[in-house]
Amino acid sequence: MANLGYIQMVRHCNQNCGFCSNPETPFFHNIEQIRQIIDDFVARDYFGVILTGGEPTLSPILPDAIRYAREHGLHVRMITNGQKLADGAYCQELADAGLQHAHVSIHSWKHKLEDFLTGTPGSLAWAEEALGHLGQTSISVDINTVINRYNCDHLDENIAWFIKNFPFIRHFVWNNLDPSIGRATAHQYFTARLADLEVSLSRAMRMLHESGRTFRVERVPLCYMTEFAHCSTETRKIVKSEERIVHFLDNKGTVRQTEWGHLYADVCGQCSLRSICGGLFDRGQAYDPNELSPVFVDPRPIIGRIVNDLQSDPAWRVAKFKNLAAVPSAHQGRSVTGGELARPGKVQPPTGERLAEMLSDPKRRQDPTARDWNPEDLPEDGDEDAQEA
Ligand code: SF4
Repeated sequence: MANLGYIQMVRHCNQNCGFCSNPETPFFHNIEQIRQIIDDFVARDYFGVILTGGEPTLSPILPDAIRYAREHGLHVRMITNGQKLADGAYCQELADAGLQHAHVSIHSWKHKLEDFLTGTPGSLAWAEEALGHLGQTSISVDINTVINRYNCDHLDENIAWFIKNFPFIRHFVWNNLDPSIGRATAHQYFTARLADLEVSLSRAMRMLHESGRTFRVERVPLCYMTEFAHCSTETRKIVKSEERIVHFLDNKGTVRQTEWGHLYADVCGQCSLRSICGGLFDRGQAYDPNELSPVFVDPRPIIGRIVNDLQSDPAWRVAKFKNLAAVPSAHQGRSVTGGELARPGKVQPPTGERLAEMLSDPKRRQDPTARDWNPEDLPEDGDEDAQEA
């Protein structure tokens, strides 16, 4: 299977996103733990590993972890804010260690807004430098964007900006904000209503499609992306029966996820896409089942499109999945976390080591939800145009 394992290298970060899903803890994985986890992914026949955080580039053993995973046959990826990759020599060091793919998180092309969202002045400028360096290496690049209240009206402008300035980027991932985890639980105002993202997301998806690029959309119900339902992350995982293991550096420990359905409303029972849709998801204070509308389209072409995509995906042993074109029976709507490991004992819930410097550093915030601003500080409409001109 094309399963990918996740390892949180560290849980501290050099940025301070208000909706961070994995805010600071004082733990990190050492190289012995990393090797044990990678050995387990290999034994499970996983395709690859995603090194994440916190910010994984803050781990001094990141190059060693990349090298070990490559030597053991895994496809090695990293999720990063790009700040440290603004250093071209460091970027090349990761490429030389064997890093194959970077998911760079950028949420808006507007500098002031990006600073606001990341809680870090200059964050977009660093990310731009990082993209420039990555474009000179063998590392391929995706852009990860968290859809939130402040960027949901210009997702299409973001895409136009990336296509113009970084045409080598061929794949984009939108993660609709999950207000039930991390800092977003304390900052519910970041959550966008589905109706507010519908138009710009639709334009953005079409723009990418027409330019020959690809994309995935996470945590958006299929009734808001019916035309591109085959690009829904959850739908693809449901159709492909994927699982993933995440080694968190917090009290979740090690989680094996095998269910990708979430919350469903009564109207979902009338919907022809119910069996392949992830549903409404946790929406916090923006939860509104009235935003859902059942659709009446044949799910089989969507499933067929996903299966056909596998032909060109080296991660998939297509021969094993001849029967995927069948419409799956409707899965139960429930929380996806908390599954048990198939082989408990092989991987223990990661203990992680404690980061002594963080605890003794008086400049570090003790409250990871603390922020220096509030939503009223946002730039007025038109400010960005003036700034960019
Ligand atoms: S109505 Fe429900 S099942 Fe149908 S696409 Fe929307 S969220 Fe999914």
